[in-house]
Amino acid sequence: MSYEKQRYLMVESQLRSRGIKDERVLAAMEKVQRHLFVDRDMEDRAYDDCAMPVGEGQTISQPYMVALMTELLELKGDEKVLEIGTGSGYQSAVLSLLASEVYTVERIQSLAIKAQKLLAAYGYANVNVVISDGTLGLPEHAPYDGIIVTAGAPKIPFQYTEQLKINGRLVIPVGSRYSQELCLIRKTLQGIERSVSTGCVFVPLIGKDGWEETEIY
Ligand code: SAH
Repeated sequence: MSYEKQRYLMVESQLRSRGIKDERVLAAMEKVQRHLFVDRDMEDRAYDDCAMPVGEGQTISQPYMVALMTELLELKGDEKVLEIGTGSGYQSAVLSLLASEVYTVERIQSLAIKAQKLLAAYGYANVNVVISDGTLGLPEHAPYDGIIVTAGAPKIPFQYTEQLKINGRLVIPVGSRYSQELCLIRKTLQGIERSVSTGCVFVPLIGKDGWEETEIY
């Protein structure tokens, strides 16, 4: 089956049928060629309903999780978005089609460089890849309309809410090293509103305000 057909089926059977409603998110997921972002030998499984290795012990999230997190940001098209955890660059590519400007931060240099090349080669020109410790956010381009964290945090680094605009949204998995809850934070004039979407499992967010690299639980 062609990759195009597989993407259509992925959107219908994994996303729409499970409650993803934002048509812009569904269209972006149908458009971005996920198979370009996974390892060559996994290419023919790129549209399967699961997470996948992207090298350096890191993973690209299951398509449904990418769609859900993206939908929670409620992007309309003119936003500036910060992603923490570039990994393969797949989530960045999806965001690129839904917002006007995307900054994505990765701590592992080899992954950042690979993602940057891929994103540039396929025309995702509004994505900027930055190599640094994303637990500190990216203050030089703040404030953001949305922040999406694609690694699991022990707690919410205060920098994220600080770097959000009023009415901005933060989507972040928070919990233990091996299982988390997907939290949605909204910054309002009155303060911070917090809700929980679902349980999830992400690789750890490692850095000054995250987990320690060697910590074992
Ligand atoms: N969004 C990615 C998946 C990310 S996996 C994709 O679509 O492929 C999580 C990524 O977060 C890993 O690449 C990991 O190296 C990165 N990461 C972990 N802690 C980080 C930190 N403090 N700053 C930036 N990136 C971090």
